[in-house]
Amino acid sequence: MAARQDSRLSDLPAGALLAWYDVHRRVLPWRELPGERADPYRVWLSEIMLQQTTVQSVGRYYREFLSRWPAVQSLAAAPLDEVLAAWAGLGYYARARNLHRAAKVVVEEFGGEFPASFEELVKLPGVGTYTAGAIAAIAFDLPFVAMDANAERVLARLFAVEEPLPKAKARLHELGHGLVPQTRPGDFAQALMDLGAAICTPKKPACKSCPVNSHCAAFGRGMQEILPRKPEKALRPLRRGAAFVARDASGAVLLVKRPENGLLGGMLQPPLGPWAEQFPSAEEALVQAPFSAAWKKRLGIVRHGFTHFELEIEVYLAEVNRRPSHIHTCHSRPSDALASRGEGNPGGRTPEMPDDLGPLPSAREGRPSPGITMWVAEMDLPRSALPTVMRKIIALALNHEGPLLSGAGTKASEP
Ligand code: SF4
Repeated sequence: MAARQDSRLSDLPAGALLAWYDVHRRVLPWRELPGERADPYRVWLSEIMLQQTTVQSVGRYYREFLSRWPAVQSLAAAPLDEVLAAWAGLGYYARARNLHRAAKVVVEEFGGEFPASFEELVKLPGVGTYTAGAIAAIAFDLPFVAMDANAERVLARLFAVEEPLPKAKARLHELGHGLVPQTRPGDFAQALMDLGAAICTPKKPACKSCPVNSHCAAFGRGMQEILPRKPEKALRPLRRGAAFVARDASGAVLLVKRPENGLLGGMLQPPLGPWAEQFPSAEEALVQAPFSAAWKKRLGIVRHGFTHFELEIEVYLAEVNRRPSHIHTCHSRPSDALASRGEGNPGGRTPEMPDDLGPLPSAREGRPSPGITMWVAEMDLPRSALPTVMRKIIALALNHEGPLLSGAGTKASEP
């Protein structure tokens, strides 16, 4: 049966949901208070951060960005390196580069004012259909629906959509769009998300307290606990390799900067060897190392889960009195694909970045990619543009449990 034809939904009272929202709306750092006008810059910033990332993870980053760059003009004028460093730990780093590019577009082409139409919003770098709809609804009160994991769950249940996610996303978006009222569409979009966060929770939804339960197809059929359906998880391949953390007499650590373009563009990492099915032997690791030194393998392994694979890294540490004059970084390339593929956090906004970022790194191994190298003081590492997995590697090498790992989500694991 076509879900949209469910008679109970033909007259879904937006008013009931809005009345509930007026009492129970969440207080979020990027959300205006009742009666205030939404700031399109804040809405856009939060929506980009919430792609693939949860509300809980985003709050700290959002506040930091807003305090450093309170307006789109200041963000557009900021060096990309600083934006990437401030983004470090949030994952999906293409978002940060697109954020910076979009800020420049808004300043240079729109005089610093965000365009108030879906058609113009969707042309901004990093803004896809779902994000443009969310910004249009929340910032400009236009009749669009904002899709995050909460809204998707509510809609899948309201319409008893049995097609598994993520295939059902387009259908859910279409169904949600059909519910948007002419008045207060922005609040309606946020009400759907808040209902999913507070009442229509993944497990044990509080259907008896739900303001739209009389219109809910899943509740009517007793299916609320099994929807939305998820596809069976595929086994992810395991890749293994070695990382090389060098520290000089002053405590500075050797990092390699990625080229600006391409995967993980502009981010930092310690030198890495190629990734394969097995760890390199101690002899092989010495060949992969960026320079000759007394490399010592640290106890433990860094494990990191990505969308399409698992990564395990053995970590080698060298303490050097003098910085070497020649550093070999040609093995750092294979980390690109893996480190860029799944740093997000399931449960956030509907993803709009490509999830499949190319072949697994084994297909790239051996391609020389000399990177810019630098020595970064240990105290500056937490503020550097290091992706989460690289932070874990350095933390294991240096036995570091401090701010380097704050926001990284997990710690390096011991075998
Ligand atoms: Fe969700 Fe239950 Fe409300 Fe349906 S009735 S929308 S399943 S909380």
